[in-house]
Amino acid sequence: MTRPIIHWFRRDLRLDDNTALLAAYAAAEAIVPVFIVDDAILRRPDTGANRVAFLLESLRDLDAGMRARGGRLIPRRGQPEAELAWLVAETRASAVYFNLDVEPFALARDARVRARLAGRCAVEGFEDGGLTAPGAIKTKAGTPYTVFTPYKNAVLAQPIARPRPAPAAIRTPPDLASEPLPTLAELGFATAAILPPGGESAARARLSDFIRAGLERYATGRDALATDGTSGLSPYLRFGCLSPRRAYWAAREAFPEGSPDADAWIAELIWRDFYRQILFHFPRVETGAFKRAYDDLAWENNPEWLDRWRAGRTGFPIVDAAMRQLLTTGWMHNRARMIVASFLTKDLLIDWRQGERHFMTHLADGDLAANNGGWQWAASTGTDAQPYFRIFNPTAQGKKFDPAGDYIRRHIPELRAVPERWIHEPARMPLDAQRAFRCVIGSDYPAPLVDHGRQRAKALALYGRASGGPMPSGLQSGG
Ligand SMILES: Cc1cc2nc3c(=O)[nH]c(=O)nc-3n(C[C@H](O)[C@H](O)[C@H](O)COP(=O)(O)OP(=O)(O)OC[C@H]3O[C@@H](n4cnc5c(N)ncnc54)[C@H](O)[C@@H]3O)c2cc1C
Repeated sequence: MTRPIIHWFRRDLRLDDNTALLAAYAAAEAIVPVFIVDDAILRRPDTGANRVAFLLESLRDLDAGMRARGGRLIPRRGQPEAELAWLVAETRASAVYFNLDVEPFALARDARVRARLAGRCAVEGFEDGGLTAPGAIKTKAGTPYTVFTPYKNAVLAQPIARPRPAPAAIRTPPDLASEPLPTLAELGFATAAILPPGGESAARARLSDFIRAGLERYATGRDALATDGTSGLSPYLRFGCLSPRRAYWAAREAFPEGSPDADAWIAELIWRDFYRQILFHFPRVETGAFKRAYDDLAWENNPEWLDRWRAGRTGFPIVDAAMRQLLTTGWMHNRARMIVASFLTKDLLIDWRQGERHFMTHLADGDLAANNGGWQWAASTGTDAQPYFRIFNPTAQGKKFDPAGDYIRRHIPELRAVPERWIHEPARMPLDAQRAFRCVIGSDYPAPLVDHGRQRAKALALYGRASGGPMPSGLQSGG
């Protein structure tokens, strides 16, 4: 019998189309499938309970999938380099395989693992997490793409690998000691959020529901805040419960002749790859602005305003609904993410990194590359070619993307009785209406924290000073 190969699961919690796992399956008769609970990740201040809960459920599903194929998941807890060294000695494994990550933390950890295992066994990393490998697509000049549309066109101009099915059988060495997966409480976390079910089975079910019933309305419906117009697949893609190539081909095959809806959805999958390759090529974005001039923005960082934003008590209903959606579900609609991020940075003049951290703490799909890309996009410090004077008016955004106020009412009980006429600006209600609709401003629901027009002018001045340019004429006020 050949010596086994260890497959180290990290952000690839699936059996389907798993590049490193399939390579191990092809090369060895037995596989040691391990997941290492790493306290260095659990202790990070932005590791939130929602993501840990989703992870644990995904691991349970992975174990079930493996047992159905004759194997089982081996959970371990500790430092990955130490745990893997033990496991190599214990199993006499010939190699450790894993799928590559792009985060600086993961790259440093993987370098430690390679150093520790050098001379003991082979260590191989595989490209798996995107439609394309993060370093594979470059401009004609050989530089990384920093603008989305040409990057998207370059991705679409080349073949995307077809997904490959899960190994038919998985043989795990029978005499291996393993502990049960820890519970959320054992890891020191608790959450009251209502999260989607974790795991590969739930991912595949959601993908097929979306392809069958949601994709055909995606281009027109994706921005409507009150309807489920998007796939809801982000936590699954985040943890690798779903292969991005499986998602891509499902959309392509649903519309072999092409369709604006499938194209729009595939563009979103490419945004995901785009930000992965930005983080891969420019790891400095983890801590600083992609556009360096904006590292020195003189944020006001009012702590009370930050607290009000986090709690969904700014007095701007669309912002508050979105922030409460995040707290109660561990997810937020993409349009809402853009609105609240613009509001934090350009109305409250608070550093985007504060918002990024809060999102990371609560999102089940929290992902450094996408979250950082989204925040830097909203704060105009990132790759986006649009200048900083794109400032969302939160009230206008609410009226446009939640016209009847259904999203607002779903997430803000205090506003449930408020009629459509005032739902986006409840502070404009006369006092008798406030009383009649059980929403007295200042006691039941807050008055607006700021004046949007005034804050917008301040933001323009702030960004104008940092970029060294004059403030664009005609943009000094209004909104
Ligand atoms: C400020 C801000 C923060 C964000 N933080 C995250 C994050 O931490 N994790 C995350 O996965 N996405 C993040 N996004 C991107 C986007 O909001 C979510 O991916 C999307 O809302 C997930 O819902 P869905 O699965 O229904 O998306 P769909 O519309 O169905 O899109 C399909 C998939 O494409 C990917 N995707 C879609 N939009 C983007 C995007 N703009 N950037 C990168 N990938 C995208 C996601 O994996 C998503 O599941 C952020 C966006 C903003 C503006």
